Amino acid sequence: MVLEAGVMVWSQVTDLPFSLYSTFVIEARHGFNKQTIWLFFRDMFKGICLAILLGPPIVAAIIIIVQKGGPYLAIYLWAFMFALSIVMMTVYPILIAPLFNKFTPLPEGELREKIEKLAASLKFPLKKLFVVDGSTRSSHSNAYMYGFFKNKRIVLYDTLIQQCKNEEVVAVIAHELGHWKLNHTVFSFIAVQILTFMQFGGYTLVRNSSDLYLSFGFKTQPVLIGLIIFQHTVIPIQHLVSFGLNLVSRAFEFQADAFGKKLGYGKALRAGLVKLQEENLSAMNTDPWYSAYHYSHPPLVERLAALEDLESKKED
Ligand SMILES: [Zn+2]
Repeated sequence: MVLEAGVMVWSQVTDLPFSLYSTFVIEARHGFNKQTIWLFFRDMFKGICLAILLGPPIVAAIIIIVQKGGPYLAIYLWAFMFALSIVMMTVYPILIAPLFNKFTPLPEGELREKIEKLAASLKFPLKKLFVVDGSTRSSHSNAYMYGFFKNKRIVLYDTLIQQCKNEEVVAVIAHELGHWKLNHTVFSFIAVQILTFMQFGGYTLVRNSSDLYLSFGFKTQPVLIGLIIFQHTVIPIQHLVSFGLNLVSRAFEFQADAFGKKLGYGKALRAGLVKLQEENLSAMNTDPWYSAYHYSHPPLVERLAALEDLESKKED
């Protein structure tokens, strides 16, 4: 526990100059930063409090599971993480996200009507439609959805609504709903579960190897150290996996774009994507090797070309 707290305090202290520089120098230089230094430290303080509140019980639970796990340890650890992620997915939007941002229902009007109509036409169980005050911190814009089964919510950044026309916002949501309709969200969730299980499986195989601990200078075998060492040893594999996942994710982006296009939002989606790219000052001309490895989303030019391609095919 002391070790964990020490690592956390140390990383907070060493990261601080970098995150201050990133927010108040780099982001500010490009006109994105909208937050005050007071807000920055308030967020940091809340984050630390949450970590103090949530961290120790979770780590303690993992250590107990490892100590009592036996041969089926991987299954128990996976089951614990699965339950934890379900709890966090439920609790996060209700209790944690509101600590940092203000969520207000999207007011009645044209935009709300259009989004509700779109959701109804796809049988998307839209329960709540929020606007989040992203603009108090930065002018980066976005939209996302979350929730289980019949209880879905869509969150729009207020910056997105300010930057785009209604039709373009709806087109961006049509793209997001494409991810849902085409089961991309389910796929990602299952992929993460399988990867988590494999990782714990690997850990179970080596956790009693004294060589592993010795090679890092540990004569005893503390549970937490074993987990941390294992985490670090599999980093090369994790890079391969994330490369694979990025490949899949980029294919999904094209599919979701095509889905939006099929619903008749091709033109608005293209306009919306261009605007978001401009407003967020994203790189326009990325190196193909760099983007193939690092990007979960295809470069804008490729997405626009694919959308135009679909459109011209329809005219033939
Ligand atoms: Zn997408």
